[in-house]
Amino acid sequence: MAGVPTFAVDRSLGRLAIWLRRLGFDTVSRADLDRHRLETLAAREGRVLVTRTQSGQRTPARVETLFLRADRFRDQLREIDDRHPLGGWQDRGARCLACNAAAPGGARRRERCRRCRTSRPSRDHDARMERELRALSLRASDAL
Ligand SMILES: [Zn+2]
Repeated sequence: MAGVPTFAVDRSLGRLAIWLRRLGFDTVSRADLDRHRLETLAAREGRVLVTRTQSGQRTPARVETLFLRADRFRDQLREIDDRHPLGGWQDRGARCLACNAAAPGGARRRERCRRCRTSRPSRDHDARMERELRALSLRASDAL
């Protein structure tokens, strides 16, 4: 797949979605999106569906689906990285970790998200996330 992937993450994997946003990926994951609605959205918007469970029904054929086996977000990120390199986040734009809104202009410095008003992580928290990500040694992506 060409270009930077975008993701539709099962609502049971909310923590993983936060990390994908921290990596700069456009990642939809909402409590009100059940599996069927998430698949519909993934098909419509060309998103990679990320889940841990089979749905029982056929996923639309044009939706790329990643079935994760891992329980922990670090291992889940590695599983995704095997398929879609997740590195290179420093060169991607920032996103609100809570609502996925793009934060143009390096809005990690902004106190609150303009869309959902969630406070951005503290500098310490953000630095911890950065260290976690570096420790994962994610593959560099060609498509930034
Ligand atoms: Zn937000």
